[in-house]
Amino acid sequence: MDTKLYLVRLGEISLKGLNRDFFEKRLRHNIKDKLRPWNSTCTRQKGRLYFEIDAKCPDEIADRAFSTTFGVVGFSQAVRCEKSFDAIVEATKRLISSPPFDDGTGSFKVEASRSDKSFPLNSYQIACELGGVVLDRYPGMHVDVRHPERILFCEIRNDAYLYTSLRKGLGGLPVSCAGKGMLLLSGGIDSPVAGWRMARRGLKQECIYFHAYPYTSEMALEKVKSLAAILAPYLQGTRLHVVPFTDSQLWIRDHSNEEEHTLMMRACMMKVANALAEKSEALCLVTGEALGQVASQTLESMAFTDGMSERVVLRPLVGMDKEEIIATAMKIGSYETSILPYEDCCVIFSPKHPLVRPDATVETDHFHAMAIEGLLDKAVAETSTYDFGVDGRILRSSCDSEA
Ligand code: ATP
Ligand code: MG
Repeated sequence: MDTKLYLVRLGEISLKGLNRDFFEKRLRHNIKDKLRPWNSTCTRQKGRLYFEIDAKCPDEIADRAFSTTFGVVGFSQAVRCEKSFDAIVEATKRLISSPPFDDGTGSFKVEASRSDKSFPLNSYQIACELGGVVLDRYPGMHVDVRHPERILFCEIRNDAYLYTSLRKGLGGLPVSCAGKGMLLLSGGIDSPVAGWRMARRGLKQECIYFHAYPYTSEMALEKVKSLAAILAPYLQGTRLHVVPFTDSQLWIRDHSNEEEHTLMMRACMMKVANALAEKSEALCLVTGEALGQVASQTLESMAFTDGMSERVVLRPLVGMDKEEIIATAMKIGSYETSILPYEDCCVIFSPKHPLVRPDATVETDHFHAMAIEGLLDKAVAETSTYDFGVDGRILRSSCDSEA
């Protein structure tokens, strides 16, 4: 099989001591999942993974596999050759006949490193020799070691590796290393970013969306499905649970004081999310709340909703400003979808003057007095699911299996 080679740099996970194998195995697995159906093999050498992938796999797909997988700090498409000076020179000549060297003008430098100290030339000598090869071929080029327009990298390890591009990865920890959580995914800007940030710390997540049809439109659901699809590569695939929430919302409207509606709704979300987490064996909930962003995101409100959850509620955006959240949303590609104008269920039933500093004991009593548990159980039972693959495509939905 004709193959192409990618070299992957690991950051934090190469420092993991005794647990390093566990993290590395997960990372290999997560990358390979994205390279299916192309054959790939992976080997490891000190702080690096080397992937050999069927040459038929398009570059965009390979690039996406490395650039969307947490745990990858950097990656390069590389060529490998025998560790002899002549072979390295030949490989260099081939490599510089293609971009970004082949225009033959401007500046460059050679960055060489040698972990095998038995190689007869040291790093500086390798850089000088290969610099000479480039200049022989392209006399119009010049060396600039401080601000080069392009770099030729040469690493002498078990073999010699040469490459001319070094792309940044996302860093973090491989998804699934830190267990599983349930992400409360609304159609807004914040919750996709919250999910992305927890995925970066290795948390696998399924998503939950509370849908109050027809008060929230089919388009609102489509928007959340699009957001789940955008998140799916980062989450290594995900399941979206769509909870029918209309009856519960109407019950809240008719059985609680107006200023408590949002709090009661959030309490119901916690109860349902915990029940779904139980079924999915997830250990925590994740929300996009940020301290002080809206009335339901005060410390008192968060304390109340925490009390309604049996599982820890992670709020990775709690200390972030909206501008920072928007910048991340743009980076991960969710922003444009999040700002589509379809209302969330929170907005539709939200009171004019919500309680800002609720007393958790009083509100907990009010929640129980509503006797809404039966409706919530029904909502859990009637929840539908959509499974998204690592490429963001829907693989199956519970609606299909019922049909
Ligand atoms: P977002 O931008 O994520 O919608 P927000 O600033 O609009 O957040 P709220 O509407 O108060 O804030 O919601 C806070 C969090 O509660 C959301 O980040 C999300 O995690 C969760 N949430 C709100 N509405 C829903 C919903 N319909 N389905 C699932 N989760 C929701
Ligand atoms: Mg919202």
